Amino acid sequence: MSRVSNLFRLQLLDHELDGARTRLGEIEALLAVAPEVEAARQQESTAQAALQDARRALVKAEGEVVSQQSKFRETERLLYSGEVHSPKELKDLENEAASLKRFLGVLEDRQLQGMVAQDEAEGVHAAARAALEAVEAVRGQQEGDLHQERAELAATVERLLAQREAAVAIITPEDQGTYDNLRRTRRGTAVARLDGSTCGRCGVAPSQARVDAARTGEEIVMCGNCGRILYTG
Ligand SMILES: [Zn+2]
Repeated sequence: MSRVSNLFRLQLLDHELDGARTRLGEIEALLAVAPEVEAARQQESTAQAALQDARRALVKAEGEVVSQQSKFRETERLLYSGEVHSPKELKDLENEAASLKRFLGVLEDRQLQGMVAQDEAEGVHAAARAALEAVEAVRGQQEGDLHQERAELAATVERLLAQREAAVAIITPEDQGTYDNLRRTRRGTAVARLDGSTCGRCGVAPSQARVDAARTGEEIVMCGNCGRILYTG
């Protein structure tokens, strides 16, 4: 292992660590929110509220029909009871009974509409509930997968950190400093592997003198263009 290949090895570990940590962040974000479940829950609760409204409206309509029926029956009973003799009063009662009956018809229509509305609301609610259950089942599976992936990544990070510790132990503090600086200023990549005759990171060909110097692996030689450490291995 040469001085530069040690740095290259450190970078491989760091890149793997970067990838694992990025994915862990994504997993946390995915676990934190479930917009599709939230939306389905919202729809179910809206449908539930609409169903309750429809049920209440039907109960009210039924009550109005019952009450109107009883008013109508009472008027008819009086009309044929023989208790009323005056022709004018009898005529009035007759008119009242007819009017009560007409409005009873209106109320019965409303009751029928209420029954239809309740049936529809039940259908909508049942569909919303089924959709919610389906979405929750999918989400449960996703969460299970994400938890498992997170556990695996955590183990990977542990292993990489141990390997990194060993890799760092054979690098001088000075080289480590150079490496850290470049990692910070060169978008996470301090060491560029030579790809044929060009820098694997920026694509520019370093001078032959640089390539020759880099080839020993015991000298820190930078790419003249992107400034990264050249690795010829
Ligand atoms: Zn370069």
